[in-house]
Amino acid sequence: MKFHPVTVLLDLIYPPKCVLCGTLLTWRQHDFCDSCRKTLPVCDEKLHRTEVFDGVTAALWYQGAVRGSILRYKFSGRSHYSRCYGRLLAAACVRLPLEEVDAVTWIPVSRRRRWRRGYDQSKLLAAALAKALDKPLVSTLRKTKHNPPQSTLTTPEERRANVLGVYRAVGHGAAGKRLLLVDDVWTTGATATEAGRTLLLAGADTVWMAALARSREFKENEQVKPC
Ligand SMILES: [Zn+2]
Repeated sequence: MKFHPVTVLLDLIYPPKCVLCGTLLTWRQHDFCDSCRKTLPVCDEKLHRTEVFDGVTAALWYQGAVRGSILRYKFSGRSHYSRCYGRLLAAACVRLPLEEVDAVTWIPVSRRRRWRRGYDQSKLLAAALAKALDKPLVSTLRKTKHNPPQSTLTTPEERRANVLGVYRAVGHGAAGKRLLLVDDVWTTGATATEAGRTLLLAGADTVWMAALARSREFKENEQVKPC
């Protein structure tokens, strides 16, 4: 562990806390307290392919303290969690053929939501992952419609309809590229699938998907194939 003077000062002003449960950390703990590190719900699902993605992987199961942590990250200003989340995502991405990935990209929030929140949580995640994997970060999508949040909808059909046509490809960021797309939570995969489809229509060669957390909800309805 490195002890840069600025880091030491910041740690005194803002003592580091466990990303999952919020417990104050000791100098030898990093990101998580011992208890959360031991019980981290690592997503053990095998890499699988869908009609859009050549491979989908996730770092954690979306449950318990992970859910609380991601909600704080998205809605309570804990943007600094992205550094820890990026490391978790990088660990999950070893299942992918990383040597084939040209660049990392993300599923953006709408301009209105980004303005209210002050940051785009998926972009921060993608930036942290790109840094950890030493890959370029490229902006490829824009959200052009402000639709209701997916969490307010109860069926996979409603979720699919809600995201239809909400993304537009930006410039030529996707053309001819093999992209790794990043998002926070994979529930039915409707949002990611729509974003991935937009990238393929814009000329992306291949798209893989990495989610920070994977929900078990709706899992039985998914049509996926092992890689
Ligand atoms: Zn903890």
